[in-house]
Amino acid sequence: MLRVGETRELLELTAELAASFLEGLDERRVLPPVDVGELRAALARPLPDDPCDPRDVIAALAADADPGLAAMPGGRWFGFVIGGAVPAALAADWLTSTWDQNAGLFAPTPAAAVVEEVAGEWLRDLFGLPEGVSFGFVTGCQMAHFTALAAARAHVLRDAGWDLAADGLYGAPRIRVVVGAKRHATVDRALRFLGLGAPEVLAADDQGRLSVEALAAALEGHRGPLIACAQAGEVNTGAFDDLEAVAAIAKRAGAWLHVDGAFGLWAAAAPARRHLVRGVELADSWATDAHKWLNVPYDSGIVFCAHPDSHRAAMGIQAEYLVHTEGADREPLDFNPEFSRRARGFPVYAALRSLGRSGVADLVERCCAHAAAVAEGISLLPGAELVNEVVLNQVLLRFEDDERTQAVLARVQAGGEAWLSGTTWDGRAAIRVSVSNWQTSERDVERLVGAFRAAVGGAVPA
Ligand SMILES: *Cc1c(COP(=O)(O)O)cnc(C)c1O
Repeated sequence: MLRVGETRELLELTAELAASFLEGLDERRVLPPVDVGELRAALARPLPDDPCDPRDVIAALAADADPGLAAMPGGRWFGFVIGGAVPAALAADWLTSTWDQNAGLFAPTPAAAVVEEVAGEWLRDLFGLPEGVSFGFVTGCQMAHFTALAAARAHVLRDAGWDLAADGLYGAPRIRVVVGAKRHATVDRALRFLGLGAPEVLAADDQGRLSVEALAAALEGHRGPLIACAQAGEVNTGAFDDLEAVAAIAKRAGAWLHVDGAFGLWAAAAPARRHLVRGVELADSWATDAHKWLNVPYDSGIVFCAHPDSHRAAMGIQAEYLVHTEGADREPLDFNPEFSRRARGFPVYAALRSLGRSGVADLVERCCAHAAAVAEGISLLPGAELVNEVVLNQVLLRFEDDERTQAVLARVQAGGEAWLSGTTWDGRAAIRVSVSNWQTSERDVERLVGAFRAAVGGAVPA
């Protein structure tokens, strides 16, 4: 066992390794070709019989893992919707691990609970959600959907005279769930976890926005338990549903309206983009991520709910040995599906405090400006076609045909200058660019466009 003084040495060694990794991000091949056999050979040792010095373990882990690590937290990662870690969030995340507080209950760790209260309120304010909404710090948007839709499920059944907690789903009135054709797959997965089956899929337009006409037609004259899911930020195009119109139709039909705002909800924090989420405050629940656009390390998602009692009724838990603080405003575990868990509020709090309101707005605007520059730079290349309206941080592109699109993408990926992924849009291959990292610079955008220029010309960049 290490003594306390030696723990300091270990942490200093670790800080050194961490700083070196971060400093190398700018020049690293973004997703290097890796010999998985070699990676396994280095890491897949027999489980040691005896203890090893942790300093050796950490040094070896860093060295052995390195070839299989992507420059995912860096400015040239444009794949999926990722984001890195602003320095304050990374540092607070280290402290979160060091403090190792189990954040489920208020009494044993009031600091974690209070910081979550503050960070939750700051986020509510940034997003322009109604005062008094409840929130939970979950692993990511997937679990934010799960939590929100669990609250929705019990709430709409209660309105239909059914006690879900007591009687379960067997024999319950059927809950109708409507979604747009381009909702994120995690919505379906949350519905599956909740035993609600596959949703009713309504038409979306060419940008992926839920068709308001289709929604109005589908809900015309509807009676009974109903959940509608809308989206702020389609994962390929960044498009926003017309939340104001969707909310009006959903309310008229008595629906619970849930909004997937994994990254798009952050548009609300940038005054010049706020119009994109007009009407968002009319929903009943919202799901978003801090580990994407706020640039907080994984895992960090947040759920908000306009019906705190339903939220607590769906998630709350009591047990004899748990100390529920008398008069505490908020027992964290009453709003989360987890029991024991990480104190996720600390990095979110640190990120928000270090950026401030204007820093969050700048982060969003800067990424959007880079996305517009990427769209312009690549669409000028021979054969390139811009597929989406670039309203946010997402760019969707394609070339003459699927084969050509895939070939260009493969060349860019292999080049190591940037990494991004493909998708299928309207039945055709496309290339997605997501600008979600606080570090992405104009230079990174030039490097990405340069990689495409080289790939279109046929040469593999060095
Ligand atoms: C990423 C994403 C999700 C899922 O979020 P996780 O944090 O990965 O669970 C849901 N919806 C949208 C639109 C997303 O972009």
